[in-house]
Amino acid sequence: MIIVMKAGAAKKDKDEVLRRIKELGYTSHVIHGATRDVIGAIGDERGKSALQALETLHGVENVVPILQPYKLASLEVKKESSVVRISDTVSIGGSQIIMMAGPCSVESEEQILESAVAVKKAGAHILRGGAFKPRTSPYSFQGLEEEGLKLLAKARDLTGLPFVTEVINPETADMVAAYADILQIGARNSQNFALLKKVGQLGKPVLLKRGMAMTIQELLMSAEYIMSEGNQSVILCERGIRTFETATRNTLDLSAVPVLKGKTHLPVVIDPSHGTGNHHYVAPMCYAAVASGADGLIVEVHPDPEHASSDGAQSLKPEKFEIMMKKLRLFAEADGRTLLRYRNTKGTLSRHLTGCPRVSKRYRNTFRSFRMFRIQSGNLTERINTLQKYLYQFRIKLRARGTSNRFLHVTIAPHLFVAALA
Ligand code: PEP
Ligand code: MN
Repeated sequence: MIIVMKAGAAKKDKDEVLRRIKELGYTSHVIHGATRDVIGAIGDERGKSALQALETLHGVENVVPILQPYKLASLEVKKESSVVRISDTVSIGGSQIIMMAGPCSVESEEQILESAVAVKKAGAHILRGGAFKPRTSPYSFQGLEEEGLKLLAKARDLTGLPFVTEVINPETADMVAAYADILQIGARNSQNFALLKKVGQLGKPVLLKRGMAMTIQELLMSAEYIMSEGNQSVILCERGIRTFETATRNTLDLSAVPVLKGKTHLPVVIDPSHGTGNHHYVAPMCYAAVASGADGLIVEVHPDPEHASSDGAQSLKPEKFEIMMKKLRLFAEADGRTLLRYRNTKGTLSRHLTGCPRVSKRYRNTFRSFRMFRIQSGNLTERINTLQKYLYQFRIKLRARGTSNRFLHVTIAPHLFVAALA
């Protein structure tokens, strides 16, 4: 049942409703709306009539049953779209379209750092990469596990990109959550209820993929498992379902986007890489996903797809990804939306930093003196080491001026890294 509070209802009235819900043996979930709060009372359907009586309480507008089997995920409970916050600068579900990109699996330091730099340079907002890989065959590459998570964290430190990575069982979920910004539940695990409950308790945003034989209602019921544990930050992902068609790896069900939008307030993203299984089909499906109303995309990009440990055939090369991103922007604009724009990372360092409003002129001059753009020689690892040396010297300089390390690490370092290595 949903208890709709009156606009501007007092806190004590809400507290009384919460107390009564608990007394009746139900769990309450408060959803804050723009003008009024609603409270979902979740529990045994048979006691519904007792909840109806709450209508007489002060501050309550009305009490209505939720008709769908999913409650917290339903549009009946929350009419406005949910915006899932990922970091200070990235949220999914607003007017800006979000791009998550990166390799299927984390394979090595060089591979993930190179991928992170490439996708950031092209305008992606979130890095993807699997450290735990659920593979059809036990003989296939299973992922670098914790080592892979550490490499993803390094890529985040250096580029500023938050990352999404898959969690494959409840036993390792805490470990993955200690590193990741978004926990991915893969298609093969999307009805692993123990895992769904576990990520529901972790409080990190969850990217929930649709299983390959899952109906839309079942997808929403899986989201409900996560939400009923107290985690409302769920992003749904359509990644193709299995049909009789064999020309593509799966059949990407783009109609799932408008269907889901008519049923849930949760953001919806599209994965055209797993949806088609072929890099040739990824860009057209990205454009179509924008037209279908998706809030974001997750795309596999690999610097050397021919030698990828997994899903090379469906991975875009960075150059192709960059071209696609430019065109995607136009499609987004045609739809009256935008692709969240990161500052341009090309050009000289000082020009790059000029685009960063939080960097004052004083610091820009200090940066200029380091001539970061000389870091163009050597392989990626050598260039990263050189950059880290510069950052170390710079930290000492900043400390002498009484500036915090956070300023360097969070505001400056990601920009420098991409600027120097792009
Ligand atoms: C992946 O994202 O690499 C993956 C395994 O996806 P899915 O669960 O959709 O197959
Ligand atoms: Mn993959």
